[in-house]
Amino acid sequence: MDRCGARITLTRMTTRRALLLGAAALPLAACGRFGSQSGDFDAPREERVACRTPEALTSFATLGGAPLRYEITGTEQSFNADPRFVDQLEAWAADWVAVSGLGPLTAVSTYGAHVDKCGSWHAAGRAFDFGVLTHADGTQVSCRYDTWGEDAPRLALYWRLAASLAKHFNYTLTYRYNEQHHNHIHIDNGVSGYDTFGFNEGSRTHVLLVQGVLRWVFGRDVPADGGFGQSTRDAARAVQQEYGITQRLASTEGWGAFLDAAAGAT
Ligand SMILES: [Zn+2]
Repeated sequence: MDRCGARITLTRMTTRRALLLGAAALPLAACGRFGSQSGDFDAPREERVACRTPEALTSFATLGGAPLRYEITGTEQSFNADPRFVDQLEAWAADWVAVSGLGPLTAVSTYGAHVDKCGSWHAAGRAFDFGVLTHADGTQVSCRYDTWGEDAPRLALYWRLAASLAKHFNYTLTYRYNEQHHNHIHIDNGVSGYDTFGFNEGSRTHVLLVQGVLRWVFGRDVPADGGFGQSTRDAARAVQQEYGITQRLASTEGWGAFLDAAAGAT
């Protein structure tokens, strides 16, 4: 079972700042196995926050106008998340439909949003696990790397989607991050909250994203080591030049333009 999103909880419209403060003071061990082994985090974040409690949760049953389905059962159902996080998801969906050229969404499958477990931004209602997107023309953009493996056309779509998500969610984890993410793309806004952000070359998460996009969307021969070495740097610069992107990747504008180019590539 997917540890970061397979559990669905009841809607809770509640403010629990006091609990959040109390929970944050607990040692990591009190939070069980979801702590350092979650796989949803870079190490520094795990150490900073052991448990999280949502300020509020809202139920949502659609994304981009398309019904949400539970990836494991295929059943249409609602999920819970922070209301502002749902707004962020909707902004992503509108952007993806506009940039990808794949037409409206007709279904979105997921492993979940809010999960009442410590050590994950799912517990704060600020994370979401993507399974499969279905578009009106029948195109499916699948995050189920576990079922299709090294299939170039699927990988191109997968990394276009990952690029689109990474523009909106600083923490976008793909199958290259670890085995827990072979069946879904995890996103959360734990690092950036609701602020804008650019590329961080010191972030393994960001560099793995760029390296996957460079290889499978733009056909560049780069490693998958999570390090922003010379060949990755050169390949990214070449793509920027090809698309007339003059702003630095580290800027919000430059990062967004690079990711838009990837999401819209055909
Ligand atoms: Zn997740």
